[in-house]
Amino acid sequence: MSTFRFHALQKATDRTPVAVDDSERKSAIFGSNVFNDKAMRQFLTPEAYKAVKNAIENGIKIDRKIAEYIAMGMKEWALSKGVTHYTHWFQPLTGTTAEKHDAFFETSMDGSDPVEKFGGSQLAQQEPDASSFPNGGIRNTFEARGYTAWDPTSPAFIFGTTLCIPTVFISYTGEALDNKTPLLRALHAIDNAATDVAKYFDKNVKKVTPTLGWEQEYFLVDAALANSRPDILATGRTLLGHTSAKGQQLEDHYFGSIPTRVLQYMRDLEKECMLLGIPVKTRHNEVAPNQYELAPIFEETNLAVDHNSLLMDVMQKVAERHHFKVLFHEKPFKGVNGSGKHNNWSLATDTGINLLSPGRTPMSNLQFLTFFINTIKAVHDYEELMRASIASASNDHRLGANEAPPAIISVFIGQQLTNVLAELEGVSSGKLSPEEKTDLKLNVVGKLPDVLLDNTDRNRTSPFAFTGNKFEFRAVGSTANCAVSMTTLNTIVAKQLKDFKVEVDALIETKDMKKDDAIFNVLREYIKKTKAILFEGDGYSEAWEIEAKKRGLSNHKTTPKALKAKVSKQAIDLFGEMNVMDHVEVESRYEIELEEYTKKIQIEGRVLGDIARNHVIPTSIRYQNTLIENVRGLKEIFGKDFEKIAKEQIGLIKEISEHIEGINSNVEAMTEERKKANALNSSEKMADAYCEKVKPYFDIIRSHCDKLELLVDDEIWTLAKYRELLFVR
Ligand code: ADP
Ligand code: MG
Repeated sequence: MSTFRFHALQKATDRTPVAVDDSERKSAIFGSNVFNDKAMRQFLTPEAYKAVKNAIENGIKIDRKIAEYIAMGMKEWALSKGVTHYTHWFQPLTGTTAEKHDAFFETSMDGSDPVEKFGGSQLAQQEPDASSFPNGGIRNTFEARGYTAWDPTSPAFIFGTTLCIPTVFISYTGEALDNKTPLLRALHAIDNAATDVAKYFDKNVKKVTPTLGWEQEYFLVDAALANSRPDILATGRTLLGHTSAKGQQLEDHYFGSIPTRVLQYMRDLEKECMLLGIPVKTRHNEVAPNQYELAPIFEETNLAVDHNSLLMDVMQKVAERHHFKVLFHEKPFKGVNGSGKHNNWSLATDTGINLLSPGRTPMSNLQFLTFFINTIKAVHDYEELMRASIASASNDHRLGANEAPPAIISVFIGQQLTNVLAELEGVSSGKLSPEEKTDLKLNVVGKLPDVLLDNTDRNRTSPFAFTGNKFEFRAVGSTANCAVSMTTLNTIVAKQLKDFKVEVDALIETKDMKKDDAIFNVLREYIKKTKAILFEGDGYSEAWEIEAKKRGLSNHKTTPKALKAKVSKQAIDLFGEMNVMDHVEVESRYEIELEEYTKKIQIEGRVLGDIARNHVIPTSIRYQNTLIENVRGLKEIFGKDFEKIAKEQIGLIKEISEHIEGINSNVEAMTEERKKANALNSSEKMADAYCEKVKPYFDIIRSHCDKLELLVDDEIWTLAKYRELLFVR
């Protein structure tokens, strides 16, 4: 007799690597499925081409008539590549991407004149069934009307036989219903604020573009094994499973070679990415068994966010061909490292300067320090909002689990920059003497470049680290849509730069200071005020939790607690002032995130209860019956001596019964708590109840199940075990 698990195991071990043809040069195929500059030049009229360029570079709206021409060109391009359908591709607030496919093909009313139709209005506007997407109470369902509109700053692309048009998703009353809209507004805000500040140093700067280079971590599990686990199917993670005797202790996976089946998957994936214009660059094993990472060359933030969302779709689709399932969950396996998505972030000018990279002259270094210190100040002032921006049920498993940054936001800058800030802090207030200024420029600001080239003292425990020429937001979860963290980061830095400019201008005007003096003075004050957020030590240590508390930094370990910062007065004022979201949008997002949290925990609770009762208990009873049979037999043979001889078996029979009882009583108690939570009348209270009353049962139920896994005969255990999920490839 063999279980579903052994069938799955058989399938998994019988697999052979799938052949991949990636002989074509990457540079030859890069972006060939993207309506990029080259395609636009070829398929658009000069007028239409100019309009798109203007929209991308200067945010100029495209008028209706021109949209008609653009649609025509885009359609011709798509048809030339065998495309049959088009879709508005967008990012609703639940983290995944959404699409509604429509055929190009249309006929007239009587069925004659079949044509491939796709005009300006199809390009610009579509009406998805908005009622099926979360709106956090913005509109009642009966009036649920929203539309998607083309975002020309992200190029259309072809996936399969479908033309995908990146779009924003907005309600008819104007509120954003997606992740992209606020991001675009935040990027606009930081462009304005950063350009104004950059002009202190170079009058020619006309535009500042935030850049993002994400690093995507993930697990690959054989599809048959993953499918044999109801928890992986329903929640993306294992809710139970005894730790494998061999885990990641030896760290042999990280430095090992990539297994052939996986390598074939990666090659296939990279080819798809190349076609889609996603500039993937590095691939390697991660710390945990079956864990990997993929990172692209950084891009303009909006495009990088789209590319990450698209990549996550593509990864899953390519995985099907290779009989893998991709686990994006932050913590798919207990006792094994989880996954994150580092967000590397910087600011680039249209004059080709990275504002977070020290330059060759004292002046460019002062520019660097200005953006560097303002970023620190922004994170200092809005640390709770930064924490909230990465909060999710799944990321809760990771933050503070001593493998990822803690739930406390701090900034790591390295010893050398710490020294530079200390010297700047000593700058005397008011106007500087010529000697002071020379000293400062030569000995402090002027020394920067060689200092930063070798920024090797990286601190892996920091949630927000400066890494030489960019900041790295490391606490972002692997399932997250980067738009959320990027909207927050760019908005707070925009606000900070705006305030900075006001302060510097005031000193120049009212105190008659020179520009440099004014900048030094304001920066000095910032250094003094923001010390609490700087931390160079071990972020995993208990000492840091105590120290952080003294410093007044927040430490919200759960999503419901962390999310509250999203609707604080400070946050609502911030997003309002920077024109990123009005209070209705902010509040509706908060609602949606609470609901999502509740649903996730609710599903996990149900699935855990089901598996415990439908898999673990029946299997355990079967094994217990075998033991009972055995004891009966021994009694028959040995008579009254049987008790001594069957001691082990009798002990096991009892132990199994105790764990079964433990499962039953706790599943019942958990169900009761769920019922109580469901009856609560606000999403805030419900999320709190699910977090504090329901979730604690998970560990208790799991520990009974995991003990049973160890006791029960391996032959009859139905669920793929950790060693199989983690080591079969
Ligand atoms: P790791 O964190 O794994 O050590 P790195 O620190 O080298 O790796 O990170 C490299 C990542 O940083 C890449 O994804 C790259 O695209 C990104 N990156 C490099 N420069 C910038 C920049 N100026 N802006 C945004 N991202 C950048
Ligand atoms: Mg990194």
